[in-house]
Amino acid sequence: MNNIDYLRSVIRTVPDWPEEGVMFRDITPLFQNKKAFRKLIDTFVHRYYDHEIDAVAGVDARGFILGSPIAYELNTGFIPVRKKGKLPFETVQESYELEYGSATVELHTDSFKPGDKVLLIDDLIATGGTMIAAANLIKRLGAEVVEAAAIIDLPDLGGSAKLREQGIDVYSICEFE
Ligand code: 5GP
Repeated sequence: MNNIDYLRSVIRTVPDWPEEGVMFRDITPLFQNKKAFRKLIDTFVHRYYDHEIDAVAGVDARGFILGSPIAYELNTGFIPVRKKGKLPFETVQESYELEYGSATVELHTDSFKPGDKVLLIDDLIATGGTMIAAANLIKRLGAEVVEAAAIIDLPDLGGSAKLREQGIDVYSICEFE
């Protein structure tokens, strides 16, 4: 089995969580299993090693677990894209629509230097709302999103296509229906 098939096989699908009809793709087994965790982080690190990344930005909260070791290996700092109300200093905010209601993400205004090349990372792309909001924040601070990267893309929900339409390159290790 190649690395990608192996990593995909470790992801656990939990039916009807958090509500009836949802097939939740649970990535905690990838973090829990030492062989899978190393292969997961190495896969991202190898992809971005030669991209001269200045900063890794990870989305609250699984993007923190994923982004931190990648930042360490790429020899960059790590920037948390946080849910509203968690960052103490001056922030920029972007809101986006959820199935029911809306959500807001924030960045500290001093997160990047103008022109910084930023790798944006989260565990999963569904409708793309989270990644698009995070990418907009990065761009508003004058930095460049090199790629929006995730472990999983759910292409049927259209998020990765929407990101690409907005000129943001997307990478995912694997896809699920
Ligand atoms: P989007 O904004 O693209 O619709 O949703 C992506 C966000 O929802 C990500 O931050 C991700 O953590 C979370 N999410 C939605 N569905 C799933 C899922 O099936 N598995 C996991 N691990 N996260 C999900």
